[in-house]
Amino acid sequence: MQMTEAVKNAGVVGAGGAGFPTHVKLNTKAEYFLVNAAECEPLIETDKYLCRTYARQIVRTAVRIAGHLEAKHAVIALKEKYSREIGALSEAIAEERADLKIFRLRPFYPAGDEQVLVHQVTERSVPERGLPLDVGCVVENVGTVLAVSDALEGMPVTEKFLSVTGAVKTPVMFRVPIGTPVREVLQKTGGLPGQYAVILGGPMMGKMLTEERDIGQAVVTKTTGNLLVLPKDHDLVRRTLMPREKMIRRATAACIQCRMCTDLCPRYLIGHEVYPHRIMRNLWRQPDVTDEKEFERCFGSAANCCNCGVCEMFACPMGLSPRKMNEYVKELLRERGINPVRSLNPGARRAVDYHRIPTERLIARLGLTQYVSHSLPDLVRLDPEEVMVPLSQHIGKPAVPVVSAGDRVKKGDLIAEAAEGLSANIHAGVDGVVEGVTADSIRISRREE
Ligand code: SF4
Ligand code: SF4
Repeated sequence: MQMTEAVKNAGVVGAGGAGFPTHVKLNTKAEYFLVNAAECEPLIETDKYLCRTYARQIVRTAVRIAGHLEAKHAVIALKEKYSREIGALSEAIAEERADLKIFRLRPFYPAGDEQVLVHQVTERSVPERGLPLDVGCVVENVGTVLAVSDALEGMPVTEKFLSVTGAVKTPVMFRVPIGTPVREVLQKTGGLPGQYAVILGGPMMGKMLTEERDIGQAVVTKTTGNLLVLPKDHDLVRRTLMPREKMIRRATAACIQCRMCTDLCPRYLIGHEVYPHRIMRNLWRQPDVTDEKEFERCFGSAANCCNCGVCEMFACPMGLSPRKMNEYVKELLRERGINPVRSLNPGARRAVDYHRIPTERLIARLGLTQYVSHSLPDLVRLDPEEVMVPLSQHIGKPAVPVVSAGDRVKKGDLIAEAAEGLSANIHAGVDGVVEGVTADSIRISRREE
């Protein structure tokens, strides 16, 4: 069976990001195949765990994928400080006699951003709003590579590795069926704060859940790599809860036009037109800008923002929120039907190598130093009584259910088929009975009726 077909059947999607269907990404040829093991955000343990534990499988599969892509270069990129993981991978490369290079990244944020990673390894800048493939690269997260390895053995994606870190007794690595309730995972960490919020992902780009009801409804999906628990009175939680109107008022009143948000922006540094300071400067007059060209000149650069959070979580000395203002302005651009011109051949700025944000300093700025752990988390397996499997865990159209209430399913059975176009198959993560099928999800229970 072709690699893309096996990967499609298994329902593999990008494990470290938005969940782009992998069979589509691999249906090409490329000069570089890059494995992203950078663990981009602070306080996430998953990629490191996978590199230490499954080094040979990762190396073997990376070489197979590179062969499939006819890539001249196969590279695995991780931070230079991950000495254990580099050791495990180096050993595996030697044992497998693999043509795979290790690229040591400096420990900065966001080293694992796909476009920053491509620039680090190849010194090529991806076009604005473009793809790594535009400069000859395919990038896959290390978790995705492992999922491809399983797919080649005929095993679909049914489980997910994820770390739980932050305000918990000790960080834990979990392996759980897709659809496991987040609350059930958290309860197994042994010691949560009385009042807490949880971030699905990392502190910079993850999705923050603050309400009991939202935490109760959240489940582990194919893209959940980490749960970060924070006390509800933590500054990061307070910032997330600030209403947009207040952010706009603060932006118009307090921005001192120091430009730090632009100068430290990772996308600006690789040559993209991203000017958050200009957006902040013009926000006050936004309702009066009726000329479309002028609107694009003032606000169009928001379209190139990747939402990394550097500007508001690290750069801004006034505690303002340029990222959120970019999100707001993007909505306005869409409403006005403005699609800003994009540069197809950007060149990195001269400051690209010294305007980097050390991860340690970022952690301190975020108020997370107390949650840094130097112990290696143990693996815990969880077998929930019930799973709620979302039909949309990937970019593209939701999958279409192929089971009905009352059906018995076995772990690995196809329960929802990829829709026409961009989509991905979904499989049962547990043996059980289908309790219900809605437009959004399939509920499976192990309990006998
Ligand atoms: S969030 Fe801020 S720093 Fe990040 S890409 Fe957007 S403007 Fe640049
Ligand atoms: S860093 Fe803050 S104060 Fe400086 S220009 Fe940007 S938004 Fe304004």
